Amino acid sequence: MNLESATKYFFCKTQSFTDSPRCTGETLTGSDVLGAFGLCQSQAELGFKAFLGKLGLSPEDSKRAIQLLTQHGMKHCDKVAALRKLDTKVKVKVVQVLAKFAFKDYCRSASGKEQCQKCRGQKLIYRNKAVVKHPGCGEKTPARVVKEDVGELCDHCNGKGELSVACRDCRGRAFSLDQAETERQGVPVMKDCKRCRGRGYERVPAADAFRAICAFTDTISAATWDKTIKPFYDQLCTQLEIEESWAETSLNRVTG
Ligand SMILES: [Zn+2]
Ligand SMILES: [Zn+2]
Repeated sequence: MNLESATKYFFCKTQSFTDSPRCTGETLTGSDVLGAFGLCQSQAELGFKAFLGKLGLSPEDSKRAIQLLTQHGMKHCDKVAALRKLDTKVKVKVVQVLAKFAFKDYCRSASGKEQCQKCRGQKLIYRNKAVVKHPGCGEKTPARVVKEDVGELCDHCNGKGELSVACRDCRGRAFSLDQAETERQGVPVMKDCKRCRGRGYERVPAADAFRAICAFTDTISAATWDKTIKPFYDQLCTQLEIEESWAETSLNRVTG
């Protein structure tokens, strides 16, 4: 059983389970799956929590995944001189921010959409505005101007509350037409999209993470970021993928 079908089984009671390949031919019961989950969790907690967090099933899982990734980062960050030199309190904050962004980047593969940062998914932006209040018909009092919070459609997401993170070149298909080969062979030939390197979606800009850590320290220059801390941040992103495959392997082993 893989992580995805196990999760479906566990969280969506109505989900039929027939799409999952079974090796033994025997039906797994709910408590089998629950037990497998528990065991898998103890063996590969980070990957497991990260996966559940990615599916958006519970914010607690995401929090725990970020916490565990921060711990992992703290264990390895002293290899980077610019991080090692930081005061411990600042260092924890910086690694925490890197872990948060790495998790956000990891979650992107799950869905093509992400909550709009500007309206935080609320679809409306409230602004305190002067509003003219007209008195009712027949009343003698003049119109008044009052300040009031007025909700307007968020212009960043056009009132959708979410934004597509699909690659702008291939629109999420992850491949594009190979012009040269298509002309040479006379049939359409596809290749991995150059912009997203076949991921299908835009990565969380690493520059956002850099800007966020600058709120805690002014000792890290853009050059240091590029040369030493960004590669460390990229490792954290990769680590989540690795941890997920560990969780997957562990679940496979448990459920057979
Ligand atoms: Zn918005
Ligand atoms: Zn693309």
